[in-house]
Amino acid sequence: MIPKPNKIKEVYLDHAATTYTDKQVVDTMLPYFTEIYGNPSALYHKGIEANGALNEARRTASKLIGALPENIIFTAGGSESDNLAIYGIAQAHSDKGKHIITTAIEHHAVLHPIHDLEKQGYEVTYLKVNAEGFVNINDFKKALRPDTILVTIMYANNEVGTIEPISDIGREILKHRKDNNTSYPYFHTDACQAAEYLSLDVEKLHVDLMTINGSKIYGPKGIGMLYVRRGIRIKPQVLGGSQERKMRAGTENVPAIMGLAKALEIAQQHGQKENDRLIKLTNYFLKELEEKIPKIKLNGPPIGEGRLANNLNIAFDGIEGEALLLYLDEYGIMCSNGSACTSESVEPSHVLTEMGLDTKLAQSSVRFTLGRTTEKDDIDYVMKYLPDVVKELREINKINSK
Ligand SMILES: *Cc1c(COP(=O)(O)O)cnc(C)c1O
Repeated sequence: MIPKPNKIKEVYLDHAATTYTDKQVVDTMLPYFTEIYGNPSALYHKGIEANGALNEARRTASKLIGALPENIIFTAGGSESDNLAIYGIAQAHSDKGKHIITTAIEHHAVLHPIHDLEKQGYEVTYLKVNAEGFVNINDFKKALRPDTILVTIMYANNEVGTIEPISDIGREILKHRKDNNTSYPYFHTDACQAAEYLSLDVEKLHVDLMTINGSKIYGPKGIGMLYVRRGIRIKPQVLGGSQERKMRAGTENVPAIMGLAKALEIAQQHGQKENDRLIKLTNYFLKELEEKIPKIKLNGPPIGEGRLANNLNIAFDGIEGEALLLYLDEYGIMCSNGSACTSESVEPSHVLTEMGLDTKLAQSSVRFTLGRTTEKDDIDYVMKYLPDVVKELREINKINSK
C-alpha cells in the first residue's frame, strides 16, 4: 500500500459534474431569501420589487446570449430545459412531421426524452460520432428530411469535452428550410457545459432553442433557462399559473434566477481568460500523465479549439476507472468515471463506447475536469500519488486475473 500523505489536500477535479457557487453569486442571491421575498405576481410593493428583480435578471441573461428578455424561460435546471425543448417542439409541431435528429452522445436529459418520443411513434436519427466525438456535417446533411421537425445536438460534451460544430449545423438547417420553404426543423442545443467558456450568441450559432443551467457555471443548482427564438411555438410541460409567459408554471425561484444571471455574466465576462489559463494547465497535466504513467490514452479531441479547456478524460489501460476514483478519494482527490448520472450503474459510458472504445477501455476511463480554483499545485499533488496508485491497481488486477 502506498503511504498516505500526512496532510490530505482537497483537490476537486469534477467541475463538469457541478461547481461550487461563486461568492459574488451567493451575495447577489441572499437579499432575495430574506428581504425581497415577495411573489413576483403580487400587486403590492414587495411583489413588484421581486418582479423588477426578475425582469432585470431576464434582461441580463438574454443580453449575454444575444437574445431578448421575452425569449427566456427560467426552469429548474438543465434537465428540465432539455425536456421542455424536446417535448415542447415535438408535441407542438407533430402535424408537420415526426422525425428528430440527435447524436448518440447526448446527455441523458436529452436522450431519455428522445427515447420516450421514439416509443410514442416519432422517428429518430442518431448521428454517429468519430473517434474524437465529433459529428460529421455530411452525415447530418444526409439525415435531414422534409419531415424533420427537431434537431438537438449538444454544444460541448460533458464527458470528453468535444465541441460540436453548432454554427455549421445551424447554417445547414437554414439552407434546408429555405430549400423546403418551411420554418422547421427547429434547432436546439444543450449548452450546459459550454456556457462557462464559449460564446453563446444565438445568432452566430443559428440555434432556435438553447439550454443553460446554473450548476455548471458557478451558479446555484436546480436552476436553468431555455432560450426559445421569437415566434416558435412550444407546448408547455408544467401547467398551472401563468408565470413565464404561460410556458412554465410555478412561483419563480427568484434567488436562484438572480444567481443564474449573475453566474452567466461572470462566466461570459471571464470565460476567455479562464479558457486560456486552463488550457495551459490541462496541457501541463496531460504532459505529466504521459511522462509518468505508461499505457494511457486521452479520450476525445486533442487539447485545443475542439475541446473544452478544463476537460481531460483518460483511459488507464488495465484498471477499473471506478476503483481508481475510489482510491484517489482517499487522498482527497475527486474525479469521476463516465457521467455522474450513471455512477450507480456499472454500464460503460455510452459516450466512450460510441467513440469506439471497447467496454474494458471505456470502464478504465476517468474524467478530470479542472475549474476556477485549480492551480498547478493541485496537479502536482495529484501527480505525486496517481502514478503509484495506477501501478498498484494494475498489479492487483494482474494477480486477480491469473
Ligand atoms: C449537467 C448537465 C445537464 C443536466 O443539468 P441539471 O441542471 O443537473 O438538470 C444537462 N446537460 C448537460 C450537458 C449537462 O452537463
